[in-house]
Amino acid sequence: MPDLGSELSRLRDAHLYRSRRVLNGPQGPRPVIDGRRRLAFCSNDYLGLANHPDVVAALKRGADAYGAGSGAAHLVSGHSAAHQALEEELADFVGRPRALLFSTGYMANLGVLSALAGHGDQVIEDRLNHASLLDGALLSRARLRRYPHTDMRALTRMLEDGQARIVATDGVFSMDGDLAPLPDLARAARDAGAWLMVDDAHGLGVLGREGRGSTDHFGLDPARVPILVGTLGKAFGTFGAFVAGSEELIETLIQRARSYIYTTAPPPALAEATRMSLAIARRESWRREHLTELIRRFRSAAAGLGLALTASSTPIQPLVAGSAARALAWSRTLEQAGILVPAIRPPTVPEGSARLRISFSAAHTEQDLARLLDALAALGEREAA
Ligand code: PMP
Repeated sequence: MPDLGSELSRLRDAHLYRSRRVLNGPQGPRPVIDGRRRLAFCSNDYLGLANHPDVVAALKRGADAYGAGSGAAHLVSGHSAAHQALEEELADFVGRPRALLFSTGYMANLGVLSALAGHGDQVIEDRLNHASLLDGALLSRARLRRYPHTDMRALTRMLEDGQARIVATDGVFSMDGDLAPLPDLARAARDAGAWLMVDDAHGLGVLGREGRGSTDHFGLDPARVPILVGTLGKAFGTFGAFVAGSEELIETLIQRARSYIYTTAPPPALAEATRMSLAIARRESWRREHLTELIRRFRSAAAGLGLALTASSTPIQPLVAGSAARALAWSRTLEQAGILVPAIRPPTVPEGSARLRISFSAAHTEQDLARLLDALAALGEREAA
């Protein structure tokens, strides 16, 4: 038997051991966790929709109409009118001919890359892409090549041999909050005859008109990003994911994406909940405006405190600590003040760049922000002492 215990001890010694907290109630800015109420800056519920009464009511109505589970894969008998309507509404939202629901963003990325690339192809990715984009390329058995973060020169060199099939990038980088240079990437991919695939898990709902994401933020024509992946468990507050693109792309995925074909369709009630949250996200632009204001205030106050901010204009605002031990110590100090921001450590982020990933939600108030800033100021004083 392999010795798992010693590997677990090694993780503990290296400050890399991970454990879960238990929420006693809904997601939100002030969740009750392990029996205590905290002020949390760590969810991806950017618009504050995960516990919105209308979204919860839509989920209940969906359960009344469709039951609890879908009972089968989409291609067997699990594809309901609720799924179909959500796909049409998502396609309309992102301005593409079609959209296809997947159970999770992780599965969407595995499905797309393994369906569209194979042995003998190249998939080229930003070094800081989400794990699911990297894993999808590995699963496809194409050659995975990674360029330094947002480095267009390095990417252009990699594209020179004309072997690239797909260039894949996060739209908003999940642990850094910065945006991929989409107009440059679109041009480079097109010139090389490759598809550009953008995983906009953290841009959709947050950026662009009506929250249409990073493509819209840059004013790029949707056709310039032929493969768009979106997730539903972040700004839209529910669960699941989708891929949007041409008719041919979606039909190809239906035939070939194994993580689509060989899995149970998500509950139709969930699709009803997401239809509601999508409508709210599009309509209620005050949520994006409030977020923008929170981010602006946070950045200006944090700069005043001398905190080393990264170049992010999105709700993801990392404070890089360096070592895993230091990031954990920061997180523990904040926790003593009742504030929850877990430390993000390797391998989620590169070695030596452990951090607090502070994330904002439209459900945070100005008072919440003030409490966070007070705690960060105290942290700075403690570090200086
Ligand atoms: N892509 C990115 C950029 C992500 O940040 C995440 C989730 N952390 C995913 C994909 C995976 O999405 P899901 O949680 O729906 O599997």
